[in-house]
Amino acid sequence: MTPDRKDNDQPMTDFNRTRSLFHLPEGVIYLDGNSLGPLPLVARERVARLLCEEWGEMLIRGWNDAGWMTQPARIGDRIGRLIGAAPGTVVMGDTLSIKVYQAVAAALEMRPERRVILSDYGNFPSDLYMADGLIRSLGRGHEIRTVAPEAVGGALDESVAVLLLTEVDYRTGRRHDMARLTRAAHAAGALTVWDLAHSAGALPIDLAGAGADFAVGCTYKFLNGGPGAPAFIYVSPEHIGRVRPALSGWLGHEAPFAFDLDYRSGPGIERMRVGTPPIIAFAALDAALDVWDEASIHDVRARSMALGDRFITEVEQRCPGLELVSPRSAEDRGSQVSFRFEHAYPAMQALIDRGVIGDFRAPDIMRFGIAPLYLDADDMVRAAETLGDIVAHGRWDGPRYREQRAVT
Ligand SMILES: *Cc1c(COP(=O)(O)O)cnc(C)c1O
Repeated sequence: MTPDRKDNDQPMTDFNRTRSLFHLPEGVIYLDGNSLGPLPLVARERVARLLCEEWGEMLIRGWNDAGWMTQPARIGDRIGRLIGAAPGTVVMGDTLSIKVYQAVAAALEMRPERRVILSDYGNFPSDLYMADGLIRSLGRGHEIRTVAPEAVGGALDESVAVLLLTEVDYRTGRRHDMARLTRAAHAAGALTVWDLAHSAGALPIDLAGAGADFAVGCTYKFLNGGPGAPAFIYVSPEHIGRVRPALSGWLGHEAPFAFDLDYRSGPGIERMRVGTPPIIAFAALDAALDVWDEASIHDVRARSMALGDRFITEVEQRCPGLELVSPRSAEDRGSQVSFRFEHAYPAMQALIDRGVIGDFRAPDIMRFGIAPLYLDADDMVRAAETLGDIVAHGRWDGPRYREQRAVT
């Protein structure tokens, strides 16, 4: 049961309690949960149990006896509760990039007379790369049109087959109005693919209410499912019966174990499965989702907005050289705050060295994820103090902070 604030305004989430559910290394203030959420304590025993009792003892029987085969849909339903999706409309598997490909391919096929995929230039590159690869395989003259985020609504015309947007910009945290843009897309005859990478677990989402056609997202960011945790895909119940999967793997087949040589898509959302699901990763993700049984996403959102505002105030007081690139209004932000700084890369390395972990996004952005499940106002103040000290005294200025590593 997910507690929800319906009848009164009292927060129902005990944030001291949710914080206690995570392992946070001593001395670390973790402001990178928008990239990789921390370890939920129960995940350790859940994964150990899966290894020992299920894989170890059951062997191949685990697919039936431990319910491995039905996990993609069962965990999909758990995610569905957090994103406003009805049971049976979300399924897990693969990575987000793959899910983008599947969703865009399905949507393009439903608008065969149109040629344009509309996106904005704040979108995550992998989403655009996948769309580009899809276009090349189709060889039918499709094109990707990217416009400024604020120009998306005005760029919707009768050439647009698919509006492909990430709701919350990975760099700036700017948030699109999903309901409004979905209505505008539909009015122009286009379908929508919403990427929820920086939304799921960060803010309330109402896919069904917004009338979204397709949505995809990852689970290792604000959902804390662990490095490489599987992605999800949502298809509106209105469309799923007509979707012809482009990645027509055997586990999306109507009868995988009939081993027919002809592909026939499976029932409902199951057809968006591709191959063998990552059962070990599911054990960690399923444990991570237990945290949400004790937290209301509405409470998380309210606290995230307050913590973000606080962080901005504290940083701006101390660091006049940093320029806020996130929307100042919390309503228009996701759950992150980003600043532009000429020396962003070495400054972030110096900050990490002192236990305040955020990340760097090229060319000059310092990004801070605000995850209220395990962060409080004290963390905001202490992180800003450390940043202020580094910037004021040029403590980022050393060769060891300049060496660029593979993952930033
Ligand atoms: C994090 C992120 C991805 C990553 O895709 P993977 O296939 O999981 O590596 C893709 N798109 C967006 C918008 C993201 O924020």
